[in-house]
Amino acid sequence: MEANEFRCAMCGNVYTKEWSDAEAWQEAQGDWPGLPAQEAAVICDDCYQQVAPATHPVEYLDSLAEHSLRRLEEQIEQAKAEMLKRWKPGGVDLLSLKTPEEKARILNEMFPMFRFSVRKQEDKP
Ligand SMILES: [Zn+2]
Repeated sequence: MEANEFRCAMCGNVYTKEWSDAEAWQEAQGDWPGLPAQEAAVICDDCYQQVAPATHPVEYLDSLAEHSLRRLEEQIEQAKAEMLKRWKPGGVDLLSLKTPEEKARILNEMFPMFRFSVRKQEDKP
């Protein structure tokens, strides 16, 4: 593949670039604000017409909602990690505990009104 060519992430065909990467990225950011570069895929114009906001508003809104949800989940995980760094119930640094079982045991001792348990890998849906 030449430097001025790209493979479409949807149909897999190889095309010649008609836009610079910067121009393509600018359009992607206009349609999907806040899209992280690592989540962006390069697609051809025919494939773009199958997901473009103007012609496929429902699919577009679905993709926006999914994208927003992923960002929210990331922010929640970051906030939880930040809080865990600062929250030391009874002076115990929860991050220093080696196993999830140990963490659950300490939390159950401190907060008997709640029940903390360790979720096993196979329990996950
Ligand atoms: Zn394509």
